[in-house]
Amino acid sequence: YIEINNLSKSFVQKEGDFKALQNISLHINQGEFISLLGPSGCGKSTLLNIVAGFEKADSGSVSIDGIEVTAPSSKYVTIFQNYGLLPWRNVIKNVELGLETIIKSKLERNKIAKKYVELVGLEEFEKRHPHELSGGMQQRVSIARALAVNPDIIYMDEPFGALDNMTRYKMQNDIYRIAKSQQKTVIFVTHDIEEAVYLSDRIVIMSSNPGEIKKIIKVELPSDRDRTSEEFVDIRG
Ligand code: ATP
Ligand code: MG
Repeated sequence: YIEINNLSKSFVQKEGDFKALQNISLHINQGEFISLLGPSGCGKSTLLNIVAGFEKADSGSVSIDGIEVTAPSSKYVTIFQNYGLLPWRNVIKNVELGLETIIKSKLERNKIAKKYVELVGLEEFEKRHPHELSGGMQQRVSIARALAVNPDIIYMDEPFGALDNMTRYKMQNDIYRIAKSQQKTVIFVTHDIEEAVYLSDRIVIMSSNPGEIKKIIKVELPSDRDRTSEEFVDIRG
């Protein structure tokens, strides 16, 4: 489980200090799929970056299974809003990146990387470098790289934003299947309400009022998770 306790974070900006998060607390159960929703600039990425150990909060704490998070770890991975790929590495080498610290055999790393490159449908492009790929393809590389290390927790910051509809539906289903079948804990930032309803157990709606949580919605859906328009209306009401 993830325990987010009273997090606050300000940034120094030209106009003075800007409060991005104020006293945010949230408990996330092991195996739970949580979506973070809210207007641009409300602090979603900031919250995710602090939870993942990339940024320091001014006050408050984050712990995973009772152990305080102070730095990034291989127990969890982040799929960044801007993909975070290494430009000098080709697709397969980018996917191998996270494996380098956990798997000694080069051959084994390559085998696993290939499997995940295939999962995101990029096997024909595995020798290409990031600048030779479309935005959506780069996004898929970053998804493959994250999943390849088989993390307990996956943090995703608008991971499907640059995908075309067909690929997005496929990736939504893949992520959902992986998360549920392997009991992964997921924090998923999105602007897409329908996507949040489809994927999540709970949806946390943050407000443009710095870091305030407006509402936490428990999503109760039939097990087949039909995409119906009714659910869409429900959530907005
Ligand atoms: P979006 O949906 O557009 O990705 P967001 O909810 O992820 O938005 P954040 O990126 O978390 O928003 O930013 C929250 C606020 O903090 C914004 O007003 C932003 O300008 C400010 N901010 C974020 N990072 C920094 C930084 N490094 N320095 C100064 N201000 C920052
Ligand atoms: Mg963001």
